[in-house]
Amino acid sequence: MLSSSECKQRMRPAAITSPARIVCSFLMALFLGAECCDRAQALAADSGSGGHVLLITVDTLRADHLGCYGYQRIKTPNIDQLAVDGVRFNRAYAQVPLTLPSHAVILTGTYPMYNTVRDFTGVGLPPSVGILSEAFERHGYVTAAFVSSLVLDSFWGLRRGFQTYDSVVNAESFETGTRQNADRVAKETVDRFLSWYASRPTEKPFFAWLHLYDPHSPYRPPEPYFSQYFGHLYDGEIAYCDDQIGRVFTALKRTGLYDRTLIIFLSDHGESLGEHGEDEHGLFLYSATLRVPLIVKAPRGVMPGGRKVDAVVSTIDISPTVLQLVRFTDPLTKQFQGNSLASFLNDPERRDDRMAYAETFYPKNSFGWSPLRALIGARHFYIDAPRPELYDMAKDPGQTTDLRAERSAETNVFKARLNHFVRQYTTRATPPAGSPVPADTLEKLRSLGYLAYKAPAGTGDGVNLPDPKDKIKTHRVILRATVLSETGRFAESDRLLRELAPAEPKLYAIPLILGENAFREGRLKEAQRQFLACLNLSPAFSPALIGAARAYHADHQNEKVKPLLQLALQQNSHNFLASYALGVVASEEKNYVQATSYFQASVRDRPNFAQAYEGLGIAQAETHKYREALSNLEHARTLGAFNAVLLNYQAFALSNLGNPRKAVELYLRVLELKPDYALARLNLAMAYRELGERENALRQFGKLCDSDSQLCEQFKGSFQ
Ligand SMILES: [Zn+2]
Repeated sequence: MLSSSECKQRMRPAAITSPARIVCSFLMALFLGAECCDRAQALAADSGSGGHVLLITVDTLRADHLGCYGYQRIKTPNIDQLAVDGVRFNRAYAQVPLTLPSHAVILTGTYPMYNTVRDFTGVGLPPSVGILSEAFERHGYVTAAFVSSLVLDSFWGLRRGFQTYDSVVNAESFETGTRQNADRVAKETVDRFLSWYASRPTEKPFFAWLHLYDPHSPYRPPEPYFSQYFGHLYDGEIAYCDDQIGRVFTALKRTGLYDRTLIIFLSDHGESLGEHGEDEHGLFLYSATLRVPLIVKAPRGVMPGGRKVDAVVSTIDISPTVLQLVRFTDPLTKQFQGNSLASFLNDPERRDDRMAYAETFYPKNSFGWSPLRALIGARHFYIDAPRPELYDMAKDPGQTTDLRAERSAETNVFKARLNHFVRQYTTRATPPAGSPVPADTLEKLRSLGYLAYKAPAGTGDGVNLPDPKDKIKTHRVILRATVLSETGRFAESDRLLRELAPAEPKLYAIPLILGENAFREGRLKEAQRQFLACLNLSPAFSPALIGAARAYHADHQNEKVKPLLQLALQQNSHNFLASYALGVVASEEKNYVQATSYFQASVRDRPNFAQAYEGLGIAQAETHKYREALSNLEHARTLGAFNAVLLNYQAFALSNLGNPRKAVELYLRVLELKPDYALARLNLAMAYRELGERENALRQFGKLCDSDSQLCEQFKGSFQ
């Protein structure tokens, strides 16, 4: 990296022919622009740093589905213009074809062997691994992230260094197990970004990361894209994203910052779209899911736009590139395992023999099949699998002809290189664990099409694991059965799974989905049987424990419910679903003291869990802690909970806190919602009596007696 003085010294003489000139002049533009034009950049310059930086990642975006990469069937004018204004990398590869690990690579400049984020069954990024945002924060930047999927939510550890981290689960309402807040469309995320952009402190430069998720399946773009792209809706999602990105560029241009902002645009992985038998991404390591678009746009006038780089580069190079371009001297650079791309911006034709590494542990961690690794060179693409593959990318970019048999010597060289590479970049010390992944995550991931099952223990990393190539049909059936299950087509889902079961006796995803289907259809005995079968294959598997507990609870077998939930809590003491369910069971047994402590644990681990606040408030009202009860019930309402029972307890607490007038108003609302709610009517009669409104009290008590003779008999003494 050039220091400021080196840069100036090289600039002063006839720097026109200097190879470092363009990079230098870019750095100078950031630097001088600060001095002459913009207070924000002036401050940045004072602290020795560069200008504004915007990182845009569009999920699941194949490079060859963008206009600027030669695709004819789509209109992506905004991204195309960015490519005209910047430098387009033609052979950029992601390191993992999965959202979270790929973004961990992009934002840390380290390989998964080092940062340990391999899929979404782990605990996320460990605190010991630094993030690009932290470097910007250290240099006095305003930092903000706007992400569109649960798979990048703050609990995965990527939020450090971002003063604003706008993610999906922060949505005000929270319901477990629904798609509702597992992802959001580009317009919502861009709206949030633009509102932040308009109100951010402008005396400092910004580093912002915008993540859009729409090209991820299922492909359902809004109109007019749905109609315009009917028959190829994946492209419709991309065109829609392009339009939303256009809104961002318009805002930057309107405020005069587009030309002065370093913009990096890329994707985290591609989409297989049926190639090699894979519909989506994650299982295989072919170009279809690894090759991504990458455009780097420097401030205007710094370097000619519209250039193209053909060398193999990696998304691990993004963080080193950004820090070099903004001229930071920062401790984060010490951890970098990628190499800056700045020299390509200067000289697109530059020869470079770097290779790209890729891996996927999704087959192993979720199914017990072999993990895959790949090494991608200028010409050859090697995939390390139980049956390795070698492709000549110049002759066979679609990777249809495996050359392993005829080029076994070359294949062996690649294998040795790959092994060396993995050893070189694997972390020696095991980093301390991050915070545990919330209990509902696996369930929600499934609503996004990921089968985040943790494979049975003891499968090891050995060579005897099945090759994912041989399991693609099984994978497709499981995915299909999951989609059918989620859309309520249980019988069809069951049929697929039962056909698959004899060939896959160890695949515990099968009894899990069968159990869920049975539960959702009210076939409780069958649900119990399947969840137990799943636990038999994988003892202590949390979704099966919770599933079995739900099935026994619905079947009124509470004695079987508690041990299952307690086991789930033993596995993960932060399993807020297990503590919530234990709170419900304790409430049913009228053990409100115990219920209170379970609900408290649940809201501690999931602070926006409305139902747990509701349970907590009710348990507190039952134990005469009216002030706490009122506060928690009100909080449940602000989180979106609203029902007659909640309002009844809210009124009950108000009444006991000496506010019968307000209580009466609430009881009347309760009875509008649920006219046959006898307890609420009795409470209303009592509140009227307390207010001295005898006539109203007697009228309500009379109505109670019409509907509930037992309560009538029990309390008639109070109303005579
Ligand atoms: Zn992704």
